[in-house]
Amino acid sequence: MRDLPLFLDKDKALRSMTATSPLGTFFGISQKVYDTVWKHLTADAGQSVTYISMEIGADRDVFHPVKDRLMKLGISESTDPQLDRFAKTFLTGPSKIPNYSGGLGILAGDTLKSFACCRIPALAISLFYRRGYFSQLVDSKVGQICWCGEWQPEETPSLYLLQDPGRPGHPLEIEVPFFDRRDQRIMAHAQLWMKLEVNNSLDYFVPEILLDYGIAKSPEYIREASKTLYDSSSERTQAIQRRLLGAAVVPTMRALDVTSNTLHLNEQHGVAVVLHMIAEDLHALYGSHYQEEAKDNDITDAATRVAEKIVYTIHTPVKAGHDRFSREMYEDIGHSFCKRILRLLATDNEHPESYNFTAMAMRVNRATNSVSRLHKIVTQTQFPQHAKKITAITNGVHHLTWVSEARAELYDAFPELENWREDPGVFANAANFVKNKKFRVYMDQAMQKDTNRLISYVNQMLVQHRAQRLETWIDPPNYLSHLDGVDSSLRPEVFTIGFARRFSTYKRADLIFEDIDRLAEMIVTNNWPVNFIFAGKAHPADEPGKYLIKLILDSQKELYEKSRGMAKLVFIPNYDMYIAKMMVAGVHAWLNSPKRPLEASGTSGMKAAINGVPNISILDGWWAEGYHDGRTGWKFGYEAPVDTKMLSEHPDELLYAEDSDSFYKILPEILESFYAPNLRPDYLEKSIMNLALNVPIFNTHRMVAEYLSRYGLKLSSETTRRINGLSKLYRSDQEEQTI
Ligand SMILES: *Cc1c(COP(=O)(O)O)cnc(C)c1O
Repeated sequence: MRDLPLFLDKDKALRSMTATSPLGTFFGISQKVYDTVWKHLTADAGQSVTYISMEIGADRDVFHPVKDRLMKLGISESTDPQLDRFAKTFLTGPSKIPNYSGGLGILAGDTLKSFACCRIPALAISLFYRRGYFSQLVDSKVGQICWCGEWQPEETPSLYLLQDPGRPGHPLEIEVPFFDRRDQRIMAHAQLWMKLEVNNSLDYFVPEILLDYGIAKSPEYIREASKTLYDSSSERTQAIQRRLLGAAVVPTMRALDVTSNTLHLNEQHGVAVVLHMIAEDLHALYGSHYQEEAKDNDITDAATRVAEKIVYTIHTPVKAGHDRFSREMYEDIGHSFCKRILRLLATDNEHPESYNFTAMAMRVNRATNSVSRLHKIVTQTQFPQHAKKITAITNGVHHLTWVSEARAELYDAFPELENWREDPGVFANAANFVKNKKFRVYMDQAMQKDTNRLISYVNQMLVQHRAQRLETWIDPPNYLSHLDGVDSSLRPEVFTIGFARRFSTYKRADLIFEDIDRLAEMIVTNNWPVNFIFAGKAHPADEPGKYLIKLILDSQKELYEKSRGMAKLVFIPNYDMYIAKMMVAGVHAWLNSPKRPLEASGTSGMKAAINGVPNISILDGWWAEGYHDGRTGWKFGYEAPVDTKMLSEHPDELLYAEDSDSFYKILPEILESFYAPNLRPDYLEKSIMNLALNVPIFNTHRMVAEYLSRYGLKLSSETTRRINGLSKLYRSDQEEQTI
């Protein structure tokens, strides 16, 4: 009997974490929070932002405030069947939604989480991919092998199929028109899934709408084209995917009554939204005959008005990141009036037979943002005609997602860092820790904890792969799995360098293995053992990228033998957010070796910085801002001024010889600092200075605060005060710094 009231209390607690609306029942936030957010998003004044992105990475195994709350309350079940189901799925359901491929998607997820933390009214729109992005197997002889596992959206916590308020029991649907060559209309239909990005204190959230075209009503070719993220099987499929995103934005907002006056394009993939908005603008002016009546200058005038609502972030100077579609092919997709708009706004002087969607995004916006100071110069060089309106808002990462448990415990133990979860700016106080013995000792212990975790993960993986040799046809990717005996594992006290990101040729994953003899000799002569831990996927159609993975695998044995077993190179297959989080905290230095200036920002190095892990990097992207004259890590490589010649991605112009030489020159100094006696003073100072100098800058709270000044939203005075506080430490667009 004594248990009963407790049970009731638990049900009460669960019920207070539930919200109901005509769209469905949602778990993790209270009714009051739900109503507040929805009121902000649907208010007439339109003071919210709709954020449009082809991919969003926000896996629940790296940030899960609702699950944390359940665990803290000690609740795992309920007598009420619906609450019981919520509790169980949130505690044990699958954590991953396979709709990201790399940095762009992770940035989107981190941004939405910071919107939620800072209580900024925002809606996100992306696509729902039934097949998702591929999973990676790696075989030592074949290299990367792609496969697509099934995933169960219905079982995935925090994902809800929205209900149609007008037709109870039916899913809410939107329609998106496609056209053929004769302007015959073909409708694509999508149902809407909603994922809630709930903030750490469970008092605000950002709804993320995923458009699911995989329903029977949609034509077969649409269903097929919507299945796989970045399906590149044909140019037509790519163009359809972009349209499935962009042309659905207005219908989605209408279906949800969302009134945002500001649309943020996270890269140009969703830019087809402006075609729709221009047509609506002209329709309002000229009525239903707008297509016949509008002259070219009416269209460009309408584009100017639409541009007032668009904020655009360009993420890369690399060609693969930009969409260009042949005019001939686009006849099959867009209406003839849409072609008229494209001819005026998406012209491509280099390729007159194509529409250039980046050019259109560049033209139709009121603010264009690059993702670092250096990238601003690069973008201005690439688009001189738009140079004036291009500004910099340097990327960040969501610090609560990327801080390891051991490091979070350390930060909690020092009152100087009080409130670090709400305001990463307080890490500016960490500079004093350089002289604080207690902090240094604790920091070193936290580092060891995280390294032990990573190394034991790798060692278990090596053993598992060895066992699989007998059970599967996959040949283990790592040389160490083929070795028997004591030396076939990694040791945590050995200096460990991490490298993980998409395998793309400009990122030069193999750069430091350019001269294995030289690398091995340095390690042997000085008796400085090193672990190299690598991970990353190459896009299935990127043959040179896949070849880089093979090169890494092929270097393992040679490096091991030439260094007499002192250098061990391991590849972890199937890179994802979970592996990323373990790696950035568990290694002793984070390596980044792109060809400057092609890495627009890069964010994995920022994740390392949050954990006090120094970077060893080419002075490119964010590192040009985060290096602080060597106080936070090391730089190497050629630092030419930005010009169009340096932007070449040609294999012969990737500067392998120069930049690897530069790496070998700085490596002894790095190893010496790590292997120094008495708590490695110089290394630890760099580690602590990452907290003091880089965490206050390279977080998404600061980043969204800067974006807010581009959006110009009118928010409550409390929110505005908070946001001003977050952005006062740094201005990406100004050279002089206050930190
Ligand atoms: C952070 C992250 C990336 C992006 O890393 P970059 O350094 O920006 O290339 C890619 N994939 C995953 C899984 C990540 O967590």
